[in-house]
Amino acid sequence: MTDQPTPMMAQYLAIREANPGALLFYRMGDFYEMFFDDAVAAAAALDIALTKRGTHLGEPIPMCGVPVHAAESYLLTLIRKGFRVAIAEQTEDPAEAKKRGSKSVVARDVVRLVTPGTLTEESLLEARRHNYLAAFVVVRDEGALAWVDISTGAFSVMDCPLPRLAPELARLAPREVLSCDTGLEDLIAEAGAAMTDLHASAFDSGAGARRLCALYGVETLDGFGTFTRAELSAMGAIVDYLEMTQKGRLPLLRPPLRERAGGAMQIDAATRRNLELTQALSGGREGSLLAAIDRTVTAPGARLLERRIGAPSRDLALIAARHDAVAALSGDARLLADLRAALSRVPDMDRALSRLALDRGGPRDLAAIRAGLTQGAAIAARLPGDAPQVLRDAARDLVGHDDLVALLDQALVAEPPLLARDGGFVAEGFDADLDQTRRLRDEGRGVIAGMQADYAAQAGIPGLKIKHNNVLGYFIETTTTHAERMRAMPDRFIHRQTTANQIRFTTVELSELETRILNARDRALEIERAVFDRLRAAILDRAALIGQAARALAEIDLAGAFADLASGEGWVRPRIDDSRAFVIDGGRHPVVERALRRKAESFVANDCDLTKGTTPAIWLLTGPNMAGKSTFLRQNALIAVLAQAGAFVPARAAHIGLVSQLFSRVGAADDLARGRSTFMVEMVETAAILNQADDRALVILDEIGRGTSTWDGLSIAWAVMEHLQAANRCRALFATHYHEMTALSAKLDGVENATVAVREWEGEVIFLHEVRKGAADRSYGVQVARLAGLPASVVDRARTVLDALESGERQSARPMALIDDLPLFRAAPPPAPKARPLDDRLKAVHPDALSPREALDLIYELKALS
Ligand code: ADP
Repeated sequence: MTDQPTPMMAQYLAIREANPGALLFYRMGDFYEMFFDDAVAAAAALDIALTKRGTHLGEPIPMCGVPVHAAESYLLTLIRKGFRVAIAEQTEDPAEAKKRGSKSVVARDVVRLVTPGTLTEESLLEARRHNYLAAFVVVRDEGALAWVDISTGAFSVMDCPLPRLAPELARLAPREVLSCDTGLEDLIAEAGAAMTDLHASAFDSGAGARRLCALYGVETLDGFGTFTRAELSAMGAIVDYLEMTQKGRLPLLRPPLRERAGGAMQIDAATRRNLELTQALSGGREGSLLAAIDRTVTAPGARLLERRIGAPSRDLALIAARHDAVAALSGDARLLADLRAALSRVPDMDRALSRLALDRGGPRDLAAIRAGLTQGAAIAARLPGDAPQVLRDAARDLVGHDDLVALLDQALVAEPPLLARDGGFVAEGFDADLDQTRRLRDEGRGVIAGMQADYAAQAGIPGLKIKHNNVLGYFIETTTTHAERMRAMPDRFIHRQTTANQIRFTTVELSELETRILNARDRALEIERAVFDRLRAAILDRAALIGQAARALAEIDLAGAFADLASGEGWVRPRIDDSRAFVIDGGRHPVVERALRRKAESFVANDCDLTKGTTPAIWLLTGPNMAGKSTFLRQNALIAVLAQAGAFVPARAAHIGLVSQLFSRVGAADDLARGRSTFMVEMVETAAILNQADDRALVILDEIGRGTSTWDGLSIAWAVMEHLQAANRCRALFATHYHEMTALSAKLDGVENATVAVREWEGEVIFLHEVRKGAADRSYGVQVARLAGLPASVVDRARTVLDALESGERQSARPMALIDDLPLFRAAPPPAPKARPLDDRLKAVHPDALSPREALDLIYELKALS
């Protein structure tokens, strides 16, 4: 049997072959259809019906489809499940295809490849988060990372040796990473991104430079800065990939910004995770620092906040300028309220702009630009002339768009529809031609009403109606019984159709009118489309300036959000300078405090001073479990992050010498959830700190060494502490339950003991959550164990052992000897094992061997035993 594919199937297979590695959405009428393996995979992923259509090579072809109007939500599901989707649309008018012959298929081609890193649709994106596409490459030992958010046009690049890749990916959290090194797959997956394996040729630096020059229409890139070969190669790969996925229609990319490696506080992946900066350990945003402090009112403001928290600055002047802005706004409640009210009406101009550039935008995107620029001008006018620099700079970027705003105002109705396709977004009075055409169209509809009355009179049928449907257009309808009267006037009423109960006619007049109405409608749509294009061009013409205005609004939103937080929560401006100070007065943990407040409990503020004279100091923090050690450690790290991110801090006062690197590690036992060889991971991570921390670092170590036996753990913790003090010479907080370590403070300069106080009351511990100088007198582990419900006999026994060990310690005897000396456990007899007849009887039961009668008897027997 020759089973030649139909012409359509042949076209499908050709497109399929040209687009490997993606599901093919093949446009047929109002559906995107999928065939063969694509259909099987998509039907399973989307939970939609799998059907069959025709045969190929003798086998039925599996098929499934999704309606075009609902395609976005299906796309989102597929992208989330790790697919990429190639969208093939009809690229010619079906009439054209018909001209070629009755058998020819409408030309189709892939117009876009949808991948996780190249989304632009509002419904596919999270408004308050960036959607980055990154590219990483190593060229002759030189690494570079470039990243772009095509939904906003932000494009950045940095020098990035391979060891820095993991921390940078942790900071940016890209959705997709381009690389030609499959060896990086695990590392990229670990950062939560999909890796797209590109051929090495996509990373050619020469071609990259040429692509960038072409993109920005420049002869040389010198105007944007000097880039290494690796950087050109990474940026070039991004542009190449965008050309491929967007099929030549490039998004609006801002000139690449070269990020300095030393510009931001370095925070590695483990520290980010552990401090829950932008994501809680549980995975979501809730419970993270970001969620606790986000008071921005615009999506671009929220994205800026995430960037700042992810990369706190190391530039003293910049930090001070940002604090100035927060101070000015938090000191003027009226101004702040006015600004935030105006900001809350500012839409996401960045994303609207990007959709317009890709020609995926609609009338609402035009309206978004109008609203953003209008509010922008109002905000600029509201900012006082003597406002701090950051706000003045922003105000400057917000003005100068009056002519564009006026044009958009005249051209657009107040609330335009989503799609340009159906028209109705151009305001009356903007285009005389359009107004006239619309009048024609609407009058035509009025004329029809009049015609109906005329025809009813002429035919003597009062119930005669003029109706409309998509197949016949306008027609006159009457019931079968009355139709005779109309049939009697054949030169007037022309028969069109007979249905079960109705007969339908038309007239020459009516079809002429219909043509006129249709023409007017098409003409009106055409004019509206032209107006849309004109407005779009006017906007894109000054895309760079509008982008700048959008950034200015985000900056004001962020300053306002920090100010609102500062005045609402009583946060203070930190003093930041070039010293090695770290003095926090009455610090609080913003996330824990919030959680406690929900339970109507209050947070105990605590001081921290990691300065000894002019040199950095280390605090060794002891105290029982649950006392608040981890909370204290983290709150100080978070205060440093917030301060350098430009925010005020949750404290009574704070003086911080610029922190260059932040490290935070938790002993392995807390990391069990991640299911790794925990002790090894802990040691590798600790090694990374000891090898990297410089004298401006802030290091937080929580129970390091507890993943192994006591003596091992203590020895490791001890040696780590000595190294931090002598070699790294950095500020550090070290929490441990090894009380033996408190002896270090006497031996090491700059090491101080602190403890989280508890009070013992009638044999129970009460947590005071107060951090005090000095060592914990004891660990209270036994009491805490009792709180946890350990049997009383075990708690009593533990107390006896502890007393013996402690008094032995004072006489400096060996622990083993002590244990030998201890009265045996039997001396404090545990309760005799209770006879458990019920258990014993149950154990002896063989359910399969019981008859129903025996089973019933057994139940009575068991009941009697219980
Ligand atoms: P540790 O690390 O010593 O085991 P945590 O820091 O985990 O203790 O704190 C245990 C609990 O104590 C926290 O979940 C929090 O509810 C409470 N807590 C900690 N610090 C404070 C504080 N300063 N004020 C009030 N409650 C606190």
